[in-house]
Order: sequence, then C-alpha cells, then structure tokens
Amino acid sequence: MGFTTKALHAKPSHKDQHGAMRFPIYQSSAFEFEKAEDLEAVFKGQKAGHVYSRSSNPSIEEFELKIKAVSGAFGVVATATGMAAISNALFALLKSGDNIITTKYLFGNTLSLFQTLLSDFEVEVRYVDLSDLEAIRASLDAKTRFLFCESVSNPQLIVPDFNAIKSILKEHHVPLIADTTATPWNIFDAKKHGVDIEIISATKYISGGGHVLGGLIVDNGTFNWKNHANLESYYKKFGPNAFIARLRKETYRNLGASLSPQSAYLLSLGIETMDLRVQRSCQNALAVAKHLQTKAEIIHVEYPFLETSTQYANASKQFSAGGGIISFSFNDKESAYAFLNRLNIIKRGTNVQDNKSLAIATYHTIYAEYSDEQKVGYGLSEGMIRLSVGIEDVEDLIEDIDQALKV
Ligand SMILES: *Cc1c(COP(=O)(O)O)cnc(C)c1O
Repeated sequence: MGFTTKALHAKPSHKDQHGAMRFPIYQSSAFEFEKAEDLEAVFKGQKAGHVYSRSSNPSIEEFELKIKAVSGAFGVVATATGMAAISNALFALLKSGDNIITTKYLFGNTLSLFQTLLSDFEVEVRYVDLSDLEAIRASLDAKTRFLFCESVSNPQLIVPDFNAIKSILKEHHVPLIADTTATPWNIFDAKKHGVDIEIISATKYISGGGHVLGGLIVDNGTFNWKNHANLESYYKKFGPNAFIARLRKETYRNLGASLSPQSAYLLSLGIETMDLRVQRSCQNALAVAKHLQTKAEIIHVEYPFLETSTQYANASKQFSAGGGIISFSFNDKESAYAFLNRLNIIKRGTNVQDNKSLAIATYHTIYAEYSDEQKVGYGLSEGMIRLSVGIEDVEDLIEDIDQALKV
C-alpha cells in the first residue's frame, strides 16, 4: 500500500461499538476497571490497557498506530510538542559525563536546549562539520551516546549525507538521531538511509493547518540497544524494545509532556492528507525558488532542489522533493523589511510547513538572543528571509512576491 492508503486505512486499536468511521476523542484523564485485579495487571504491564492519560490514551495510541503504519517504524511515542520529543529522547539516552555529536546548524530551540540544559547537566555537546567525516570520526569516543542532526537544517538548508555518517557511527555502535520534520516519510525514507531514531515536530506538515502542537519519537528498530550503555537494564528486560520501554515507563511518563487527546485526533486527521499537501508545498517551493533566482534585488537563493545549490547532490540522492522552506537574501535589513511589509498573501510570522506561506527574517527574530558574531557563524545575515511555502495556488504566491519587490 502507498503512503496515503496506509494513512487512511491503518488498523485502529479496537473496533468502535457504533461503527464510527472516525476514531473518537477519548477526552478522559483516567480509566475505570471492572475488577481491581485488572487494574493491577495493567499497572504491572501484564495486560494491555489505559489507566491514566499522562501515560497512555486511546486517541494518542490511534495516532501512534497511524504513524507506525506510514513509517514502517518499530515503535512510536507521540509527545506534546516537537521540543518535548527532543527532550524526552535526550533524557532517555543521556547521563552526565556523556557527550553527543551534532552540528551548529540546528533549529533555534534545539540549539538553545543543547547550549543550556545539556551543559548544565554536564553533557558535552561536540559541534562538528557533518560533511567532514574525519571530524566526526575524531569526535567519537566511548562516552558518545548519539549523533544528532536535521534532515534539512533550518534556516541554512544544509542536507547531511546520512549513509556516509551512519557508516562511521556503525563502527562505534553510536545511534543516529535525525530531526526529519522538514522531510516526512513520503519524501524521505530515513530508515533506509541509516537513521535509527527520527524526531518530528507534528506541529508542522502533519498538522498542516497550524492548529495544534505535537511531536513524535520514532524508533526505526535499526539500532541494537544492547550496545547503548545507558539502556543496559532496559535491554535486559525489554530487548529490542529497550528505548521505547524506557520512554514509556520512565521518561515520557515522568516528564509529563504528553500529547492531548484532542490534538492527537487532529494530527490523525492531518496525516491522512499530508502527502497531498507536502507534494504541493514542495512543488510550489521549487517554482518560487526558481522565480526568486531571476530577481536582481535578491543576492542569494538557497533551496536544496535547485541544481545550483551546494546541497543539491545530497538532497536529490536522498529525497524525492526539496521540502517547503526557501532561504533568500537581500543586501540589508531595510530591503528585507520593505519586502516583508509589502507582502499581502504571504504572512509575516514564525512557524513552518503550514498550509499558509509564512515569511520571517530569522536574524532579527528567532536568533535575536545571539550576538552578531554568533549569528554570522550560524550562516545567517541581516537581509535573510526564511520563506515557508504553503499550498496556495503558486501564481498567487509569485504575484505577491513580485508586487512586494516593486518599489
Ligand atoms: C518546529 C520545529 C521543532 C520544534 O517543534 P515544536 O512542535 O514547535 O516544539 C523542532 N525541529 C524542527 C526542525 C522544527 O521545525
């Protein structure tokens, strides 16, 4: 079955007693049991069931099952936000004294989390150039617990070569974690390219409507948890399910960033139409990127599926489309702001991979708390705009851009 058929027809956890075609929203904090013995059995994990929605809930489980069906993953845990997915994964895999390898090209809040909380908890974060395989090799040691990167960094739009990175990590039994929010399964088979754990902000393409927050931790079942120092006791008890079991029985439950049943319902609805929306957003983005390249006022256009992009080789061999985000630059802040303020259809705002097109000057907003020197180091500039291309009719987007460029 193809992606959308699976998204629509994934088998629910149970048959609805009224035959409802849409899985209901179980808006309930707790669940009652006929017998005290049954409640005990569920608590002990001897019987399947739900006791309290911070640990599990049927509507959340339904969303997780749909994700499992479309991704072919071994295990899935849904969380309240994308950042909750990241923090849950970190807390399940790290102890103080450990280190991780990553790049400085990361989503702003992820970078902030790595720079603050991880440092406070004495986890060393090693920033390397992921295109330099020798640098990755040199950074690995016995205390390295994972390598973390994004399938397309935001807003630099850098695309790592996953198979190449994986080949080095494999020698050292270190898992590869990728935030694949920008390139969902229908355009990037991350599992096939060596990604062991995927982190996804469901707030983006899965929601589509920009109406709810949500996150996903996806275990592709490709890493042997026997080789992870911090999961030893879980491996002994749960075997290949060690990582998911630690999340369920400890991290996810104890940190409390659980997804709401209402949000799970809306995200289950979102995944059903996601392929249509992602394809349209990517087609629009490529057309808009090519159009922007013809404009003299714009000094640089970055989009992974432009043949002129330094990222084209990695993007085109791994993805079937380039994603919805374009970064482009004017000479200075004034020109960028004049352009932003003249936009009529494209909205000035943060967020990405929404049905609506959104534009923002990341240098002055998302990265406002960093020094100019740091921002330049992150590949940002004063006149840079991040454009997340939605699913509008592309002619309207191009017309809006053209009128905004006219002085
Ligand atoms: C939005 C985003 C996040 C964070 O997700 P939230 O749902 O906002 O917490 C993480 N990574 C990437 C790549 C994102 O775009």
